[in-house]
Amino acid sequence: MRFIDEYRNEADARKLVGAIERLAKSGSSCGVSQPWTIMEICGGQTHTLIKSGIDRMLPEAVTLVHGPGCPVCVTPLEMIDKAIAIASRPEVIFTSFGDMLRVPGSGVDLLSVKASGGDVRMVYSPLDAVKLAQAHPDRQVVFFAVGFETTAPGNAMAVWQADQMGLRNFSVLCSHVLVPPAIEAILGAPDNSVQAFLAAGHVCAIMGYREYEPIAEKYRSPIVVTGFEPLDLLQGIYMALRALVERRSGVENQYSRVVTRDGNLPAQRLMAQVFEVCDRQWRGIGTISRSGYCLRPAYAAFDAEQRFGVSSVEAQESPLCIAGQILQGTKKPHQCSAFGALCTPEHPLGAPMVSSEGACAAYYRYHREPV
Ligand code: SF4
Repeated sequence: MRFIDEYRNEADARKLVGAIERLAKSGSSCGVSQPWTIMEICGGQTHTLIKSGIDRMLPEAVTLVHGPGCPVCVTPLEMIDKAIAIASRPEVIFTSFGDMLRVPGSGVDLLSVKASGGDVRMVYSPLDAVKLAQAHPDRQVVFFAVGFETTAPGNAMAVWQADQMGLRNFSVLCSHVLVPPAIEAILGAPDNSVQAFLAAGHVCAIMGYREYEPIAEKYRSPIVVTGFEPLDLLQGIYMALRALVERRSGVENQYSRVVTRDGNLPAQRLMAQVFEVCDRQWRGIGTISRSGYCLRPAYAAFDAEQRFGVSSVEAQESPLCIAGQILQGTKKPHQCSAFGALCTPEHPLGAPMVSSEGACAAYYRYHREPV
C-alpha cells in the first residue's frame, strides 16, 4: 500500500494547493481572464475530488465541474428498459456489473426483476458470462455491455471468445460510449463554460491520447491526462491552470506512469475487430454523432437487441432529473430540486444518484449542502 499512500500525502497536497493559489494570483495580476472552469471527465475522479475535499481547497478563481464520465449515468433509460425486458424472459440468464442492477428504468430496476424470480446475476467480468453460457447450453446468457473505452476491450474479448467457441447462446446488450466525441459536444455547446479538461487516465491507458490532440487544437483548450489519486488530481489541475494562465492549448500527460501517447495497441486492435463506431444516445444529453461502439456486422449474431427484438423500446425521463445538465457541467448536483429529498441513494430518481461514480451520489455521500 505504500505506493498508494504516497499519492495521498497531505503535506504534498498542501504544497500543490499553494502552487495552484500562486498560479491563480499570477494569472489575475497579468490580466488573464478568470474565473477558470476545469472539468474532470471521469466519475471516479469526481468522487476523489469530493471525498478528499479538493474542491473546497482550491482558490475561488478555480471552479471544478463534473463531466459525463460515469458509464452508469449516461446509459440511456431506454437501454435499462431493454435490459429489464430481456432479463424478465424465463429462458434468460441476465448478467451485469453490480452498479447497473440498481439503476431505475421507467418502472422497476434489474434487482426488482431478480426479486420477482428473474435470473439476474452480478458478474465481475464479461468472461464470467461466457463461462455461464458454456455451463448452461439450454439457457440464453446475456451480458450488459456498458461503459467507456475502459470496459470495451474486455467486452470485445468476450464476444470474440464466444465466437471462437461457437457459443450460440451468448449475446451482449451493447451501450458503449466514447469520451472524445463527448468532449467535443461540450466544447461546441453554445452555453459551454468549460475551458480545460482533466481527461480520464484509465481511458487513455487503453486509447492513448492522440485523438485528443486535434480537439485541443480546434477549441484552443488544454486537456491534461490525469490519474485518480488526490495528488494526481491536484497536479492535473495545476497543469491545466498553468496552460490557461499561459494561454496555451494542447494535450499534457500527468499520468505518465501509466499512459503513453499510443495506448494499448493490442486492445485497440481487438476492439476494432469486434466493434464499429456508431451514433449513440447519452442519458440526459441526447444523441451524439459517432460517440459509441456497436457490434460489427460480422458479430451481429451476438447482438441481444436483435436476438430478443427489443430495438424499438422507448422511455420517458423523470421531469425532475437534471442529470443531463450535471453531466455537461452546467449545473451541480445540489442545484437539483430533488437532491437529497425526492432523490436519495435509497430512492434514486436518476442514475447519477445510484452509481458509485455518479456526481449526485458523491455530493450526497460527502455532504455537499443544497444551495
Ligand atoms: S439529484 Fe437525482 S434527480 Fe437530481 S439530477 Fe441527480 S440523479 Fe437526477
